[in-house]
Formats: sequence, C-alpha cells, structure tokens
Amino acid sequence: SQDRVFNFAAGPATLPENVLLKAQSELYNWRGSGMSVMEMSHRGKEFTSIIQKAEADLRALLKIPEDYAVLFLQGGATSQFAAIPLNLCQADDTVDCLVTGSWGDKAFKEAQKYCKPKVIWSGKSEKYVRIPAFDGLEQSPDAKYLHICANETIHGVEFKDYPVPKNGLLIADMSSNFCSKPVDVSKFGLIYAGAQKNVGPSGVTIVIVRKDVIGNARDITPVMFDYKIHAENNSLYNTPPCYGIYVCGLVFEDLLAQGGLEEVEKRNKKKAELLYNAIDESKGFYRCPVEKSVRSLMNVPFTLEKSELEAEFIKEAAKEKMVQLKGHRSVGGMRASIYNAMPLAGVEKLVAFMKDFQARHA
Ligand code: PMP
Repeated sequence: SQDRVFNFAAGPATLPENVLLKAQSELYNWRGSGMSVMEMSHRGKEFTSIIQKAEADLRALLKIPEDYAVLFLQGGATSQFAAIPLNLCQADDTVDCLVTGSWGDKAFKEAQKYCKPKVIWSGKSEKYVRIPAFDGLEQSPDAKYLHICANETIHGVEFKDYPVPKNGLLIADMSSNFCSKPVDVSKFGLIYAGAQKNVGPSGVTIVIVRKDVIGNARDITPVMFDYKIHAENNSLYNTPPCYGIYVCGLVFEDLLAQGGLEEVEKRNKKKAELLYNAIDESKGFYRCPVEKSVRSLMNVPFTLEKSELEAEFIKEAAKEKMVQLKGHRSVGGMRASIYNAMPLAGVEKLVAFMKDFQARHA
C-alpha cells in the first residue's frame, strides 16, 4: 500500500501485508470471542485452537515427522545456544561446531560454558565467505552433536546441503531461513529459529526436536530450558507468547495458501537471482564477497567499490521508501534482507535504484 515502505531489515523484518491486515481485523475481537488474542487465557479453548492450528500448519509446511516435537518457546535463538547443551549433553561431553559466520561463533562461545565444544572448521580468517567441503571435515568421533548455522544472517552464507554427523545429531540454527524452502527435517536432531525474520514477530522461538533425544536435561537445567517440560505441556508449561504464536499461525496459513514451501522457494530464488545478478553485472561497482555456490537466498550483503558513497546510497534509497539497507555494524557495507514476505516488486525496485545510482555515480 501507499504508506508502507519496502523494509529490508534483517529482523524484526517485514511481514506479509495480508497477514497484518488479517491480524488488524481480528485485533479488537477475535472471531466473536469478545476479546483480543492478547487478552485470552492461554488455557482457554480459543487459544488452544490457535496454538494447535499453528503447530499443525507448521507440521504440514515442513512435513515434520511424527517422531519430532514442535515447541513454541521464548528467549530468542540466543537462549537455545545454552539450552541445547543443557538438554543434550553433560559438562564433559564434546560437541562439534562448524562456524560459517558470527552466529555460529556465538553459539560456539555460549556452549563453552556448558560442555566442550570444538570448532572443526571456521571461516573467520577469510571473513566468512564460504562453507567447506564436508568430506574433509575432521569430526570428533565422540561428539554428541554437530552444530551449524544454516543461514548466517550477517555474512549471507547459506548451507545448500548438510553435513552428516559422524556421531550424534545434526543441529541447525535456522533463524534466518526458517520456512524459506523445503527442509528434510529427518536429517536433523534439532532445528531452532527465532520467529522474527520469516514467520512472525520477535518473542517466539521455535524448536523442532526428535522426541527420543528429549528427557536428558541436566539437574541444573532451568525449567524454562527443559525441552521435556515444554513437550509434556504442549508449550503451555507457563504463559507462552500468545500473540506472537497467533501471528506465526497466520503466517503459516499464508505460506500454505501460497502453495507450500516448494512455491515459496521458487519465489525466493527468483528474487535472490535478480539481486545477485544486478551486483555481479555491475562491473565491480557493487560487490558481494560470498562464494556463489553458498550465497544466501535471504540476506544479501554487498559493498560499493567507492565505499565513500555508501552513506549516500542508503540515504537516497530511504528517500525512495527502501529502508534498513545498512549492513550489520560488524561488517559495514550494505545488506538487503529479502525474506519470504519481501515482494518481488521490492527487489525490482531496489535493483532499478541500484542501476540508476550506478549510472549517476560511476
Ligand atoms: N541466530 C541467527 C542466525 C540470527 O540471525 C539471530 C538474530 N539475528 C540469532 C541467532 C539470535 O536470535 P535472537 O535475537 O532471537 O536471540
């Protein structure tokens, strides 16, 4: 609509307009209940129907097998950096970390407090622009799990296929590419994601975990971090982030209506291709440092050859209602996050602007 901008933020991020409008229409009085979702008992029949439908739709979208639990939690993906070791291993256990960007690095550092994580590969010295070949990885023979960040939000590096752990489980932080494409959940012991990029507002953290690995939390594991407690109580052990779960549910419904994740992936590929082509065909005016085979469909980092023009680029783009294009403070440059809810028209407008900007400043 006229008064909305194209929001390229990395998260919280743009949401589908029809979801926002539906939430607006139901805000004051949810489906004749006489109250908003924010005011409902989390144990009442109305909210029970909301959380059950959200889970069922997410299961349909990702084809989540029956032997996996779906948990709607709080605390962000950051809490999971601690909750995972506190549920899946003991203090002396080894776990392997494949570090392809700063989120994987943060997960590794937090795990150091709770177990013995080992970095089996890090892209840090090359400034995180690639993912190694999996067959050369030296995995620990006794590792309880192998942790990856499936999409590095800051560096724009995305796994296109997944390493097979030699021992133990594969665990993935999918915060920034959750529900952006089909995923074979059965390859993973656990998948986790903060909602605020692709599927909802901040405040909801989704964990998909194989049921047989639940129930091994340590004595000291906080009750709020114990997967068994949350699984047994269907994510209603304490008061969940009700409104956020409701909005996630609206997004899941919308993604199913779009034809499911195969269709969603097609659209995401088209948008990303348009933007990467514009960068690659700019004769070096714009540059994306990430190796082509692992470029993210969600987060597109790029720099200007004339870096002194970056502030002007961001300012002019904002004037044309394209906002939040500044790169993460740790890497600089620009970053366009083009999650599911970014329409093709937004990427087309950005690409047209980039060409025009280049023509004026080359
Ligand atoms: N992992 C990834 C890949 C992320 O992008 C983020 C947030 N930008 C986090 C973890 C941390 O998430 P939260 O802020 O929900 O704790």
